[in-house]
Amino acid sequence: MKYDHIIIRYGELSTKGRNRKGFVDRLRRSIKKALHPFPSIKIEATRDRMYILLNEEPVEPILEKIKGIFGIQSFSPAVKVEKDLEEIKKAALFYVQDIKEDIRTFKVTTKRADKEFPFDTDEINHSVGGFVLKNIKNLKVDVRKPDLNLLVEVRKEAVFLTGRVIPGAGGLPYGTSGKAMLMLSGGIDSPVAGYLSMKRGLEIECIHFYSPPFTSERSKQKVIDLAEVLSQITGHMTLHIVPFTSIQTLIQKQIPENYSMTTTRRLMLKLADKLREKNEALAIVTGESLGQVASQTLDSMFTINEVTNTPILRPLITMDKNDIIAIANELGTLEISNRPFEDCCTVFTPANPKTKPKRDKVNHYESFVDFEDLISEAVQMTETLHFSSKAEKNKSNEDSDLF
Ligand code: ATP
Ligand code: MG
Repeated sequence: MKYDHIIIRYGELSTKGRNRKGFVDRLRRSIKKALHPFPSIKIEATRDRMYILLNEEPVEPILEKIKGIFGIQSFSPAVKVEKDLEEIKKAALFYVQDIKEDIRTFKVTTKRADKEFPFDTDEINHSVGGFVLKNIKNLKVDVRKPDLNLLVEVRKEAVFLTGRVIPGAGGLPYGTSGKAMLMLSGGIDSPVAGYLSMKRGLEIECIHFYSPPFTSERSKQKVIDLAEVLSQITGHMTLHIVPFTSIQTLIQKQIPENYSMTTTRRLMLKLADKLREKNEALAIVTGESLGQVASQTLDSMFTINEVTNTPILRPLITMDKNDIIAIANELGTLEISNRPFEDCCTVFTPANPKTKPKRDKVNHYESFVDFEDLISEAVQMTETLHFSSKAEKNKSNEDSDLF
């Protein structure tokens, strides 16, 4: 006896009306990608569920992979058997035995779509429940709030048993919300912001501003490692590394020290917006959290944000640092982010950056400096790297420029 199906429940995506087919297709693609190491599985999609048909694959590693796929509310391993009461009993015992460490009470609920089956629902519930009780010690029936509600679905073609409900990652299938550019620093916050926006269905490309020799190869490597972790989530990731030294140097020379951080952020945002346009994305994601540092006060955001009317998505805006750290830890980026490094901003951060920078002031200071040529040059000199997860790499060798 073994699990031969996994039932996938969509959750929120079921409410998407006409777009539903697109959502289901995307989810199917995400599943196919995540289960790439198991090429013989098949996926069947219906209006409100998906079935993964297993051959000889072990179920647990597959369940583990499904846990990370966005757009899944919950999923359950299932067993398919002949329409025979003895077979149903055996399958029920297998199912309960497999998870008996996690349950103390259970009940059996039968749904009989095939009215020709010779036993009615009560008869099936009793006889299957009785058989399980007789064979497993210390298990009790609880019809109100059982740890396991073992579902027996009697259909025309066969009988399906299921009941163990595993929570999915939630969110929306990757790519169903469009594309955005993530401003990825080497810090703790921005990778978490990227993860949360991917979870909400956004396709992400990363942008990093790099200022050698003020920041070292090590800090670049850090960002590369972070992008690589993000690539594991959905199978691929793009990272644009923008040379920022000449702009940064000009800012240091020409902008009063207490406004240099504000101008730095404005120019980063301007550049990010140019790359966004070039790569046909519709938003910019940052790791900002309200009031965390001088550049993240409301006054700062108001003044920095002036350079674009592109939507800036800030998934962490209301989150406390501890909550962000917890997600980073779970995601596997915390350790990388915590490596010591020089961020181009830390190197240039003045002792007293303005926490309440004003638009008219910064515009006045910037009006004496021509950044345009340097901005175009930075866009031109941007280096683009592509990452793919290990599974993807095995699939195709044509991605030879990938890490
Ligand atoms: P993080 O932990 O993400 O670095 P932080 O708390 O250090 O955030 P800041 O350094 O003020 O905050 O950066 C705010 C946001 O600006 C970052 O979350 C990131 O989205 C963006 N950012 C900062 N520095 C860079 C950089 N060098 N390249 C790309 N984006 C950056
Ligand atoms: Mg930072």
